[in-house]
Amino acid sequence: MRTINEEEAMSAGVGSSNESPRRGFDYLIVGAGFAGSVLAERLAVGLNKRVLIVDRRPHIAGNAYDHYDEAGVLIHRYGPHIFHTNSQRIVDYLSRFTEWRTYEHRVLAYVDDQLVPIPINRTTVNALYGLDLKTDEEAESFLKSRAEPVEPIRTSEDVVINQVGRELYEKFFRGYTRKQWGLDPSQLDKSVTSRVPTRTNTDDRYFGDTFQIMPLHGFTRMFEKMLNHPNIKVMLNADYREIRDEVQFEHLIYTGPVDEYFDYCYGKLPYRSLKFRHETVNSAQFQPVAVVNYPSEDVPYTRISEYKHLTGQEHLKTSVTYEYPSAEGDPYYPIPRPENAELYKRYQELANSTPNVTFLGRLGTYKYYNMDQVVGQALTAYKRIAESEGVIEDAAEVSAV
Ligand code: FAD
Ligand code: UDP
Repeated sequence: MRTINEEEAMSAGVGSSNESPRRGFDYLIVGAGFAGSVLAERLAVGLNKRVLIVDRRPHIAGNAYDHYDEAGVLIHRYGPHIFHTNSQRIVDYLSRFTEWRTYEHRVLAYVDDQLVPIPINRTTVNALYGLDLKTDEEAESFLKSRAEPVEPIRTSEDVVINQVGRELYEKFFRGYTRKQWGLDPSQLDKSVTSRVPTRTNTDDRYFGDTFQIMPLHGFTRMFEKMLNHPNIKVMLNADYREIRDEVQFEHLIYTGPVDEYFDYCYGKLPYRSLKFRHETVNSAQFQPVAVVNYPSEDVPYTRISEYKHLTGQEHLKTSVTYEYPSAEGDPYYPIPRPENAELYKRYQELANSTPNVTFLGRLGTYKYYNMDQVVGQALTAYKRIAESEGVIEDAAEVSAV
């Protein structure tokens, strides 16, 4: 992968002798996260387009960026990223740029002075209530006796209370959600807490997906491979606003916040942020699993992550990250609730009527997407572009989740 500066960007993209002598780029892509990088790779390789991809951060890979810290431990700068998907096609696509290690994510929650599995499962119930439930049926009837049926289920509070009742809701979900989002679960769409299932068996994996894998040499290495193409130039530390008038391009792919692109003309779309406190600890292991959640509102952070569990790295020391939710800072999470969806809809209409610009990704389309969903979205966008140019791509290569 080669990064360039502004001067080079202005003169780059000049056609070589066997191309048309057009100046500039076919595509300017804003944001070198999953959305931008997948599209850059596809446009360059699949359609032989000349692409300039810019990011205002000093690195590629967006929020999935990982790097070796001062102690030499591979950490994720923006909190733990675990790849999981049910889509064979998305795995096949990304496998062009990385090998994988199998990793099944497990999370414990610190509740009632104990570390217990979350998602709530039979082990969780047995530990908290001093029970010895042995079968799914026993656990199901216990949870049923606690559950308070809610109809209709609209909010993130409704979902959990309907499944496990108020007591477990308060122990595991209310405080965590209030901290994470700065809102009560009753103020958030049901989709938020629905991400976490409830189980009656003893499966203590966080995800149920078919594929639970991590890029063997990390996310950043995977992105480097993805962007390593003569048609792709990468420009870092460059905000779209700084360079847009300096660079010639035909089309724009924008994966930054959609409201920012339109100068907040309808007001700010709310995004939730986080402050990360990274620490290296002078022992080989800090906690028994990669992530421990702290749902209590008496604790200011939501969770602590220890990366060596995710990466399999062996090291005498270990590095961990504390996450402190925050209203200010980089936009990390779109906030799923009806009034925000309404506001986004107005921006979306504006986006749809803006020619030659495609909005993509978690910030560009204001969707609480996981990495695989963003890859799927980018591949679908590519397919549309390819078809509009009369190129029919092999469906297996470009289908979405
Ligand atoms: P980003 O990765 O946000 O990339 C957008 C890029 O655009 C950024 O690098 C930004 O600097 C750049 N940009 C924005 N505006 C401009 C501008 N004006 N000029 C130049 N550059 C600009 N997903 C999972 O599947 N599994 C997980 O375990 C997981 N854990 C997560 C943990 C945390 C703490 C967070 C915040 C997210 C997590 N995600 C996880 C979600 C995952 O990070 C996203 O799905 C994915 O990174 C989104 O990719 P993207 O390209 O849409 O956005
Ligand atoms: N959640 C919670 N307690 C937990 C884990 C999750 O209340 O121990 C809620 C919280 O609102 C969180 C949401 O469920 O934001 C989704 O959790 P997930 O782990 O999917 O969030 P992510 O960090 O992956 O975005």
